[in-house]
Amino acid sequence: MLKLRLLNAVAPAYFFMATAATFVLHFCYFIPTIFPSPDTSLRGSTALHTVVFLFLMFNALGNYIMTIKYPAESANETVIPVCSPHCSDKVDAHYLLNGRHFCKLCKKVILKRDHHCFFTGNCIGNKNMRYFIMFCIYTSCTCLYSLVLGVAFLTVEYSISFENPLTFLTLLPLSTGYFFMGTVSGLQLFLVLMLYVWLGIGLVCAGFCCQQVLLVARGQTWCQMQRGELVENHNPWRNNLKDVFGTRWILGIILPVQTVEITHSFKDRSHISNVKLLYSA
Ligand SMILES: [Zn+2]
Repeated sequence: MLKLRLLNAVAPAYFFMATAATFVLHFCYFIPTIFPSPDTSLRGSTALHTVVFLFLMFNALGNYIMTIKYPAESANETVIPVCSPHCSDKVDAHYLLNGRHFCKLCKKVILKRDHHCFFTGNCIGNKNMRYFIMFCIYTSCTCLYSLVLGVAFLTVEYSISFENPLTFLTLLPLSTGYFFMGTVSGLQLFLVLMLYVWLGIGLVCAGFCCQQVLLVARGQTWCQMQRGELVENHNPWRNNLKDVFGTRWILGIILPVQTVEITHSFKDRSHISNVKLLYSA
């Protein structure tokens, strides 16, 4: 349990630090170096790149907040279970009846649970799946966009050519070696490290997002897939997507706004009591 709780605290901290570093690198290094003279014809390019970056970042952070703001917990529980302290760390949730799960980290009963996201510190389920998918899409776009600008920065500032793909692969080992020899500064090494972080997060988020969209279209969740549970879902994929993304899905793609109706039972949690039940692994 300690490992999972630690991961639940470290992952959001890592996310916020990476976001802050991305902001600083963009506005203090990339934009002023790649577009050095805002008075000339580059003014339009500077404004365009700033707007694109802020749009991607606004949607990534907006959907991150919405994922936390609209949790997937069940509002109709009269008993909230409590997990045994001896329960294995490999088990992050216990399956209850009727497609409900008890998450050990959220300490809540979750409806149509997909998985626990450590970066948001929340379970992803029926209410916040749409925000989570958009969060993954925009995080992936922000990282890959930052990677392109980072490569452009290195080309302009240090005349490094990336025509040969091996240049990127050998960049981190060579930079680390030069750092210990004293010819590369800590900031330069950090920038190179961030290129790899952006590439890694960008590709992982893109792949994860494709998998989530596929599961949603099939009317399944990650939890069901892990249990090998074949869901009898006769709904067309369009209806499954509409259930998650709502009727105003086009608006939801470009802005982090509410597009799924909230039922009254979701808001009303006054009747929930904290009766303890022990669950073992
Ligand atoms: Zn959870």
